[in-house]
Amino acid sequence: MKYCFGVDIGGTTVKMGLFTTVGELIHKWEIKTRTENGGEAILPDISRAIFDKMKERGLEREDIVGVGVGIPAPVNAEGIVKNTANLGWGYKEVVKELSELLGGMKVAAGNDANVAALGEMWLGAGHGEKNMIMVTLGTGVGGGVIVDGKILIGANGAGGEIGHICVNYNEEDCCGCGNKGCLEQYASATGIARLARIRLKKNDDLTVLREHKFINAKVVFDAVKENDKVAIEVAEEFGRYLGHALANLAVVADPSVIVIGGGVSKAGEVLIPFVEKPFHEKAFFANQETRFVLATLENDAGICGAAKLII
Ligand code: ZN
Repeated sequence: MKYCFGVDIGGTTVKMGLFTTVGELIHKWEIKTRTENGGEAILPDISRAIFDKMKERGLEREDIVGVGVGIPAPVNAEGIVKNTANLGWGYKEVVKELSELLGGMKVAAGNDANVAALGEMWLGAGHGEKNMIMVTLGTGVGGGVIVDGKILIGANGAGGEIGHICVNYNEEDCCGCGNKGCLEQYASATGIARLARIRLKKNDDLTVLREHKFINAKVVFDAVKENDKVAIEVAEEFGRYLGHALANLAVVADPSVIVIGGGVSKAGEVLIPFVEKPFHEKAFFANQETRFVLATLENDAGICGAAKLII
């Protein structure tokens, strides 16, 4: 039996998993992400955690196929990061550095959203598929595009950055990336809350949303489940932006399945028709068979996909 490690680096914790190469998650744990001093401790901490785990489990170097890593930034095919928003890293040769720390062990790295998509294809909602788009609706909108079983990385590691497709040329507010009208401004958890606040200002329609001091995506979809008319309008607007963007993407990637994940997807199956209907309204006829499913691996998608990177 051979083993590998899947590592998912986040801004506050590093999630780690020990897998068999046939996809069994043996053990998972977390360590703190120490982002101070330019994040200099992050990779040494990971390598120490891996050596400790090998010792604890009685694993030898030859039992380990390698280590895959998901990173919250664009990562190019050589495993190089040019900048990160929340790890403290600037330019960093992640694969080279971590492999050296691990005594020459094989290391692979990818963008976290891309890696999560790979995880869902390997062990989750996209199991058995080879052409898949995953969209992760969290604080932002992340994405992963898999074509013929391979992650679309691109020249800068920015392949699959679905959140920054321009879906509204008339938007005046800025996205976190500096552009205006990005999908993320309408389809992320924060985007949905923003749509709700804008809608509430439009008139004084009666809605349970007004009973909440802080509106978030959960509040909106809970109200949708109670058939609240205004909440349904907000969900429809969110779904139009996301569904139409996915229809445009589908003519490029031609996915058999689109997986929706991230915190917003916790709303459950109620979410799907809001996205699926506008998708079908705009999708090219050859893409009409595309199925929509919810992600199933939740927080484990990152470590699963990271492990798959190395196999
Ligand atoms: Zn943007």
